[in-house]
Amino acid sequence: MSQKPPSPSLDTQTLIEWDKQHVWHPYSAVNSLAPIYPVSHAEGVRITLHDGRELIDGMSSWWSVLHGYNHPELNQAVRDQLDHMAHIMFGGLTHEPAITLCKHLAKIAPGALEKVFLCDSGSVAIEVAMKMALQYWHSQGKPEKNRLLSLSGGYHGDTFAAMSVCDPVTGMHHLFQQNLTQQFFCEKPTCGFNEPLQAIHLKSVTTQIETHHKHIAAVVLEPIVQGTGGMNFYSPDYLKAVRQLCNEFNVLLIADEIATGLGRTGKLFACEHAGIAPDILCLGKTLTAGYITLAATLCTPTIAQGIAEGEAAVLMHGPTYMGNPLACAVANKSLDLLLHHTWEGLNWQGNIKRLEQGLNTGLAPCRALPHVKDVRVLGAIGVVELTHPVALDDVQDLFVQAGIWVRPFGKLVYIMPPYVMNDNDLDFLTHQLTQVVKRIGQR
Ligand SMILES: *Cc1c(COP(=O)(O)O)cnc(C)c1O
Repeated sequence: MSQKPPSPSLDTQTLIEWDKQHVWHPYSAVNSLAPIYPVSHAEGVRITLHDGRELIDGMSSWWSVLHGYNHPELNQAVRDQLDHMAHIMFGGLTHEPAITLCKHLAKIAPGALEKVFLCDSGSVAIEVAMKMALQYWHSQGKPEKNRLLSLSGGYHGDTFAAMSVCDPVTGMHHLFQQNLTQQFFCEKPTCGFNEPLQAIHLKSVTTQIETHHKHIAAVVLEPIVQGTGGMNFYSPDYLKAVRQLCNEFNVLLIADEIATGLGRTGKLFACEHAGIAPDILCLGKTLTAGYITLAATLCTPTIAQGIAEGEAAVLMHGPTYMGNPLACAVANKSLDLLLHHTWEGLNWQGNIKRLEQGLNTGLAPCRALPHVKDVRVLGAIGVVELTHPVALDDVQDLFVQAGIWVRPFGKLVYIMPPYVMNDNDLDFLTHQLTQVVKRIGQR
């Protein structure tokens, strides 16, 4: 460790008590009995808890921490930018970090996604994508194309418009029924990543587009990997076919690459598995490598031009912290590290392959367990699907006791380690995960 963690000023138990009294956590109840772990330091792939225990990180803090925690070059990028300006309004003013970032994203994104809108979070990137699609059709004299078609099992964020395209069941649509726009849904893709696509797999999406295309502005989907909604890996041919249907029926395609973007699935963008480009693309989570919240919505010149010709003539969105220079600076450095850095002689693609192999080997023993339904790996994502859901509050501490940070949901025990994890740590992570999965089966 390059730096000693500062000595804690409060004891762990006090922190936990105060947290329970005053702090909401994601999808949590107040005064809940769920375990909570104060963290005092994180470095590389190691999380140091306030009580001194050290955990190997299997979550990349929800897909975001690509290069590990407390990365010297990313830290330096933030410090350097801080000495110039932490923030400046983006209306009427611009700056080099944002320009460099947008230019770079336009260059590496699939297809002609040249126009970049920077925003605050993944959910907002989805809101902006939906606005782009609606404003585009409005300007084309087709305001009736104002609904989205989404896949069941999808997850696109927690704000109201984003929620309206999340899986209706796991997204608890009934709770917010009066406030959510009714969108169209088709069945989730059931053709696995390596399975041959058959006509039956396309029936639901085809039917929905054929029936409702006059009212559909865009299809919104997570390409290849449906993440939070079920860790479902599906066939690139399915994605290709949806692109085809969109072209045929004059419907836009929005690719939500907030989790998959920037290498996680083995391609820089998951769309590349299918060799397709969307009309609108959302990035988030991975963009600043876990440093500061930032997201981006990219679109084609056709859409940007269409919006400019419409009634409003401008895209009706403009966050206060739009294009935050600190966030852009760290995103630029993260892209540089990803695309130009090597890991023991491997470029990023070779490195993701290394992680894929390590996950495959390390998680293989889970296959033999009676309460394991499936083990699947794609790029740097490893999933152990159980036959029955686990109660997170009951099992969370088993992982912590095993020295790893893994946070299952439902039937899914999954990991997506930081790209910098070495083989030893990956072995430890998968071995300990397997041991915990075994124990879960014995309960
Ligand atoms: C996390 C996520 C979002 C929402 O991003 P936030 O930054 O949490 O708002 C949207 N889509 C996908 C695929 C995600 O994984």
